[in-house]
Amino acid sequence: MTDVPASADSALIHAGSVREAGQPITIPPVLASVLVSLGDPQPDDYGRGGNPTWTALEQALGSIEDADAVLFSSGQAASMALMLALAAGREKILLPHDGYYNARVLADRLRPHGAAPVPVDLQDLAAIEAELGTGSSVLWAESPTNPLLRVADLAALGRLAAASGTPMIVDNTVATGLLQRPLELGAIASLCSLTKSASGHSDVILGAVMTRDAGLAAGLRGWRSLGGGIAGPMEAWLAVRGLKTLPLRIERQSATALAIARHLAAHRRVRAVHYPGLDGPGLAVARAQMPRGFGPLLSFELDGSGPDADAVVAAARLIVPASSFGGVESTWERRGRWPGESAPESLIRLSVGIEPAADLVADISAALSRPSR
Ligand code: PLP
Repeated sequence: MTDVPASADSALIHAGSVREAGQPITIPPVLASVLVSLGDPQPDDYGRGGNPTWTALEQALGSIEDADAVLFSSGQAASMALMLALAAGREKILLPHDGYYNARVLADRLRPHGAAPVPVDLQDLAAIEAELGTGSSVLWAESPTNPLLRVADLAALGRLAAASGTPMIVDNTVATGLLQRPLELGAIASLCSLTKSASGHSDVILGAVMTRDAGLAAGLRGWRSLGGGIAGPMEAWLAVRGLKTLPLRIERQSATALAIARHLAAHRRVRAVHYPGLDGPGLAVARAQMPRGFGPLLSFELDGSGPDADAVVAAARLIVPASSFGGVESTWERRGRWPGESAPESLIRLSVGIEPAADLVADISAALSRPSR
């Protein structure tokens, strides 16, 4: 792109395009595993080192957080590279006990190669400070958490991490860099599963790490190239396309999710609703660190059993019973059905899509009006 964009929202729309007569205004997917190479080898002469479609996607992602973006084949591949790059040589990796459960599982599997996972409550700053005060650590934060949508004070955690010389990573998948900017709150790396809102159309699995630390970015590219956790050009191209509408999608999804959270909070069959935008102790922090919206994801606990929640999920006509989140189509699932997940038994996680709010409220009301089993 030749013009300097006014904002990340504009940069996403124009990423990778070449403003020369005769050039396409959209970038094509480059389906090549080998590029012509003369003289000294370049990292992207061979497709495991780089690809022009990845470069366009990395430019777009980097523009959101004013950072260098390193693309991976999935969010988990990005997490693995980060853990290998940062946890090696440290004693502990502090992870939220209520965050994305596969991060905890992965940290446990990587224990022989690095740090011992220690589950923590990210809202308990005194406990985190005490942990950071003994031995060398990595702080793996997540906010809002999946699936309980708990909000951690990232700036406060960032200060604690800085004071103890601890690298802080934030899994920013739920908010994306558009709603929340961890690198400005003390994180060395912002992790995003692009599978979710960033690509937004439930058609790719991808992940990325955003960082302003040149050494870390180079280290991650090294792990990516050697480990081979690379993205396919078609997936990268789909994500470039999906990202163009991220600002529109996530603003609408956030507004609809807030309306639905309020509706559910007043429903007689609902015991608790978890959403960062609802009144509660986390609201002030959420407003400060997510000024543009609270995201598409919420969860609620049915006043009933696991099978009652399964029956509600199955009763929807519009909302798709499915895992994952952030797509244009609304999806929900009873989260506790996954082995290893620590969610309450009757908790339903709802990802709000771009359908009109009234249609979704009607679908939810009808599903909840079915008698419990
Ligand atoms: N981080 C969070 C918060 C997630 O919810 C997920 C997937 O659900 C991941 C990371 C892993 O991403 P992926 O499925 O792209 O590997």
